[in-house]
Amino acid sequence: MHIKVSEFGIKKMKTKWGTCNIEAKRIWLNLELAKKPIQCLEFIIVHEMVHLLERKHNDRFIAYMNKYLPKWRSYKEELNSIPVGHAEWEY
Ligand SMILES: [Zn+2]
Repeated sequence: MHIKVSEFGIKKMKTKWGTCNIEAKRIWLNLELAKKPIQCLEFIIVHEMVHLLERKHNDRFIAYMNKYLPKWRSYKEELNSIPVGHAEWEY
């Protein structure tokens, strides 16, 4: 992807699968992802890294997702098919 994350870590989070601090280039991943298939983890990592290229979930963002992880939609579905006690999840 030609981008570099300066820091990443794992946290217990209640409403988000991952977060990205664009200025610090720091990514946090939800500990719950450890229970998910590996491609779901990859989806969240790519998603958060794309935020370093595009802040918003707009067409440009989706174009990057399609480029770097063409099957992201099916991974997203898989991720949301097994809820973890929360109806609405953000990332
Ligand atoms: Zn996002």
